[in-house]
Amino acid sequence: MDAYDVIIIGTGAGGGTLARHLAPSGKRILLLERGGWLPREPQNWSDQDVFVDNRYVSPDTWYDAGGKAFQPGVHYYVGGATKLYGAALYRLRKEDFGELQHHDGLSPAWPIPYDEIEPYYTLAEQHYHVHGARGEDPTEPPSSAPYPHPAVSHEPRIQQLADDLAAAGYRPFHAPCGIMLDESNPPFSTCIRCATCDGFPCLVHAKSDAEVLGVRPALEHANVTLLTNAKVVRLETNGEGTAVSQVVVERDGAEERFASDVVVAACGAANTAKLLLQSASDKHPNGLANGSDQVGRNYMFHDSTAVLALSREENMTAYQKTLGLNDFYFGDGDFEYPLGNVQMVGKSTAPMFRGERPRDTKLAPDWTLERMARHAIDFWLSTEDLPRADNRVTVDRDGKLTITYTETNLEAKKRLYEKVKSMLGQLDMNPGHLIHRFAYMKNDIPVAGCAHQAGTCRFGTDPETSVLDVNCKAHELDNLYVVDTSVFPSIGAVNPALTAMANSLRVGDHLLARLG
Ligand SMILES: Cc1cc2nc3c(=O)[nH]c(=O)nc-3n(C[C@H](O)[C@H](O)[C@H](O)COP(=O)(O)OP(=O)(O)OC[C@H]3O[C@@H](n4cnc5c(N)ncnc54)[C@H](O)[C@@H]3O)c2cc1C
Ligand code: SF4
Repeated sequence: MDAYDVIIIGTGAGGGTLARHLAPSGKRILLLERGGWLPREPQNWSDQDVFVDNRYVSPDTWYDAGGKAFQPGVHYYVGGATKLYGAALYRLRKEDFGELQHHDGLSPAWPIPYDEIEPYYTLAEQHYHVHGARGEDPTEPPSSAPYPHPAVSHEPRIQQLADDLAAAGYRPFHAPCGIMLDESNPPFSTCIRCATCDGFPCLVHAKSDAEVLGVRPALEHANVTLLTNAKVVRLETNGEGTAVSQVVVERDGAEERFASDVVVAACGAANTAKLLLQSASDKHPNGLANGSDQVGRNYMFHDSTAVLALSREENMTAYQKTLGLNDFYFGDGDFEYPLGNVQMVGKSTAPMFRGERPRDTKLAPDWTLERMARHAIDFWLSTEDLPRADNRVTVDRDGKLTITYTETNLEAKKRLYEKVKSMLGQLDMNPGHLIHRFAYMKNDIPVAGCAHQAGTCRFGTDPETSVLDVNCKAHELDNLYVVDTSVFPSIGAVNPALTAMANSLRVGDHLLARLG
């Protein structure tokens, strides 16, 4: 059996980023990824294939608390969910790292202050080619460097929206985008600025995903090995139960075993919890690292609403994700609690509507889906989802994964929606027509939309209330780490991937020091 210095399980935002960071050290690193390479094929950019036929969604079946089966919106590929993500690469706000009082209760503090992760946000923005403009977003946290690339320009209808918002007294900003677009030199730009980005894989590898900018750079180092279609099914410990001694993998129908000094789980929040829970043993009867009964708990995934407004003029925008609005992030005049973030989601098309079955088309009865798509301006509203012990991932003896989840912060979510709706008349859009979309929530079971899943193995200083210590090492094991979104003690209201990447780099520095 080959021995490694580090095994990383999962190659998404957390695992792929860590692999890149550790690779130059010369340490023997094994990446175990249950998926394969996402095929580069014309279907990458087909709305029918991607949004209607769910070509790149995993065939898993999970269950809600009532036992109802659903297909979760998860993606098993080298690069994980980032292969499909919208690459809106936001930092959490500085305040998100402290306690924040919400309408429904407290959003807990992270065990590290913002200043400690700030240098890693800067590095993550560099690795992932983030385009943006500092100084526009009224809630942005302090930064030690400018964005590595200039903001992606707005197309005319979105520029008009920005101007209308500013005229109405709001402070729209250029959203941080992870696309490798060079507007100053289009013939040499990797990104061609197309309409099939958010929720689609990028056929030309111009999206800043963890395959292209995490795993591939890592594999340039001879000391890094990647095994695809290698699903880790169990972690076994030494006799004392103090360290992971064997990583058990299913590959090509056979069982294989690997060992390393350090094991890092980065399977995504639900699957990392599943892996630990199904690694129960005599020494860890409730699951690995689960003496506190915290593994799987505090599952969060954002209170998100995808909506479209109908512009009076046609909206011919291709790449729509260039604008954000955080004026209501921490509340509003008539509501003292945080409401959340407003951003654009990928431009909708008529086939997407057919896949989504939009719920409120009755609001616009005389509109065909094609006409609706031509006039649609698509927003993504996110309110912070608060961690609740009862919102959790559980796994039964047969490996059946159940997500028990009750929504939090619904009042804030409703108010954010009403806020945006009330603005439409000022923005040259049909007042009253704010139509719900599913976007990548896929269907009407809320937990199926697990794109922003987080929080099942949170890190903290108290082993009674957290799974991991401040270095994201399991309290109960000497060599088990976690670097995906499961470590989040709270999720804030902006997209999670950059925070997973930055935290992974932070943990990576700890591992480099540990490995010597
Ligand atoms: C459609 C969509 C749009 C999104 N848009 C944005 C956005 O614009 N901005 C943003 O910040 N975030 C966005 N997200 C969320 C973002 O992609 C995730 O937060 C991020 O990828 C999570 O990183 P992770 O490392 O926790 O998990 P993942 O990136 O999902 O990686 C987990 C990896 O582990 C592998 N794996 C799982 N189980 C096992 C196992 N047992 N053995 C081996 N390998 C395993 C998986 O195949 C996968 O490769 C989006 C997500 C989706 C689905
Ligand atoms: S907009 Fe750019 S990064 Fe996104 S899918 Fe198109 S070419 Fe790729």
